[in-house]
Amino acid sequence: MKRDLKSLIAQMTLEEKAGLCSGLDFWHLKGVERLGIPSIMVTDGPHGLRKQAEGADHLGLNESVPSTCFPSAVGLASTWNRELIGQVGEALGKECQAENVAVLLGPGANIKRSPLCGRNFEYFSEDPYLSSEMAASHIRGVQSQGVGTSLKHFAANNQEHRRMSTDAVIDERALREIYLASFENAVSQAQPWTVMCAYNKVNGEYASENPWLLTDILRDEWGFEGFVVSDWGAVNERVDALQAGLELEMPASNGLGEQKIIAAVQNGTLSEAKLDQAVERLLNIIFKAVDHKVENAVYDQEAHHQLAREVAAESMVLLKNEDRLLPLAKEGTIAVIGALAQTPRYQGGGSSHILPTKLDNVYEEIAQAAGGASIVFAEGYHLNHDEIDAEYIAQAKEAAGKADVAILFIGLPDRYESEGYDREHLSIPDNQIALIEAVASVQPNLVAVLSNGAPIEMPWLSKVKSVLEGYLGGQALGGAIASLLFGEVNPSGKLAETFPMKLSDNPSFLNFPGDGDKVEYKEGIFVGYRYYDAKEIEPLFPFGHGLSYTEFSYRDLSISAKEITDTDTVEVNVVVKNEGQVAGQEVVQLYVKDVQSSVSRPGKELKGFEKVRLEPGEEVRVTFILDKRSFAYYNVELKDWHVETGVFELLIGKSSRDIVLRDTLLVRSETGVKMKVNRNSLVGDLLADPHLSSTAKRLLDKVNETHPFAQMNDDGNMGEMLAAMMKYMPLRALVNFGGGTFTEEMMEEMIDTLNAV
Ligand code: BGC
Repeated sequence: MKRDLKSLIAQMTLEEKAGLCSGLDFWHLKGVERLGIPSIMVTDGPHGLRKQAEGADHLGLNESVPSTCFPSAVGLASTWNRELIGQVGEALGKECQAENVAVLLGPGANIKRSPLCGRNFEYFSEDPYLSSEMAASHIRGVQSQGVGTSLKHFAANNQEHRRMSTDAVIDERALREIYLASFENAVSQAQPWTVMCAYNKVNGEYASENPWLLTDILRDEWGFEGFVVSDWGAVNERVDALQAGLELEMPASNGLGEQKIIAAVQNGTLSEAKLDQAVERLLNIIFKAVDHKVENAVYDQEAHHQLAREVAAESMVLLKNEDRLLPLAKEGTIAVIGALAQTPRYQGGGSSHILPTKLDNVYEEIAQAAGGASIVFAEGYHLNHDEIDAEYIAQAKEAAGKADVAILFIGLPDRYESEGYDREHLSIPDNQIALIEAVASVQPNLVAVLSNGAPIEMPWLSKVKSVLEGYLGGQALGGAIASLLFGEVNPSGKLAETFPMKLSDNPSFLNFPGDGDKVEYKEGIFVGYRYYDAKEIEPLFPFGHGLSYTEFSYRDLSISAKEITDTDTVEVNVVVKNEGQVAGQEVVQLYVKDVQSSVSRPGKELKGFEKVRLEPGEEVRVTFILDKRSFAYYNVELKDWHVETGVFELLIGKSSRDIVLRDTLLVRSETGVKMKVNRNSLVGDLLADPHLSSTAKRLLDKVNETHPFAQMNDDGNMGEMLAAMMKYMPLRALVNFGGGTFTEEMMEEMIDTLNAV
């Protein structure tokens, strides 16, 4: 329905307008009854609804109405399946309609800078392209149902430690290429109805009152059309936040926020036009929700549970499968060991914690799927503490010793990772390590099934033949695990993050979580696999890794042109075939490498991926389209994305470390970067610049005819040193060393000539 918002705003009092900019309570926006502006509800997010009836809190403490618990973002990202994430979004949107929720708070697109971040389970990836694609799919899915999303936490909320006060100090390239890029496509392509600002500061300024982030980038560059909401309690100074581009403060500020806004308008420090603009943005979304409200909506709980199971099965990653121990035969005796099989960890702690509509019992699902096999169970360890229980270990050994195979359920208990704090190490509890060792001493056929929201170290890896990374699989994890273990479903998840051998291998190790209220991202753009590649550090499991019960072969990589300009797109094709006996899905990954660059660049960057399903013997051609951004880096001088003319390598991989095909193409930059010559420009740079080199050479040759420095050049032993000295010589130093042969005036003239070329 078309509404004249401007005339509606004209009828509002200053108090009503200011009021609209703060919440009514924990989960509702204010309405203005006399003008027909309703109060709408928002709810966490992201992998289910945490709609609280009463006893509101943002910490996941009080109960909420039941809703389907899908795998958390780490698992969703491991599906690498845009369509499936879209379906999850649609299901969430339907549940929101049924529960009268107008905006679902999520997804989270923060980069996994360190595996220690307590909230990594709620984020997608260490790679901005993958993260942004997943977030966009989630947003599109939810919003297709007429329900809004809130892309969070914008920006650089990469740790929980001191999250409300810490200052993330990040260089511009890293911000652009990694941390902001993770949000960029999701905003510009999927248009979330709202964006939630982060708690922390970014380069000295609270994200909630950062005009560069909230207005220059979000709105002016990316074209964001919705409204910005504060993370719960993230507002520092209400008026500064409004000026910067934050429309809605949540939760209710008990009148304080609006009083400050009213006072600022009255004393002239805030223009009423600015307030009107914020109100218009809010009303836009409020009425969008009204117009898309489905009356008496219901959803099919069982169908959503089935979808949760399908997604869970795709989200799990087969990390290791020695001797093809998996899939298991449905015969003999199978020992199921570990408390996590009876008390599963299926979601993370904090504001995203929801009440599921039902919950699979992992042990029972396995028993059911095991057909003729007989199942024995042992608890193995306590979940609520790390002490080793000798009795439990003995029982587990006995059960495993009598079986043909043992499945160990291990991972991180709830108390190990959650919103609110970060981990300090990557280890699983001691009582679980002792269990693995004990069971391995009596049973060689060991399968480990992991429940965790982020990477763990595995010094015990050689003791188990197979490892299935189950992540936090949502309410249907049990059925999903059973279907994978017995081969009813073929694993197809791939890691969206690197598992390091040890914590100290991680790029942020020395600078996480920072000192006091400052965390410096000193690793710059070298986050995740970008770093492990550059340092040639062997990860435990690389980004993009994941095994299948079948084998895929790759051939016929072709690029539509061997030479393009950066305003063109290029098409890349490759043929993938299922060479095995069972149907399966493969994630075809395309990485781009800048072969030679004048700035430091990662050894490879993900720029495309497609997931394909293939029957045995079937093959398919997979197509990717690459554009300027696929080859560009962020040039901080140009303040823009820039492609440096040169050769690029295209790499097709089964993972970031298993590159199976490669080819090259030449990309020419359309935007010649014109060098601005000044007194500190280096001789070598002038000579190397394609645009300036011939003029520079002519002018410098002339100078060298008399310059004392050039006269020294004859000595055979010093030649290289002198050449290097000259290369890195600023023009003004030619004056310093010129002994009067090259004057300040001559230098100025040279600069003018070069700038006029
Ligand atoms: C979290 C947000 C969440 C909000 C509301 C905050 O503590 O950081 O992700 O949406 O609470 O519960």
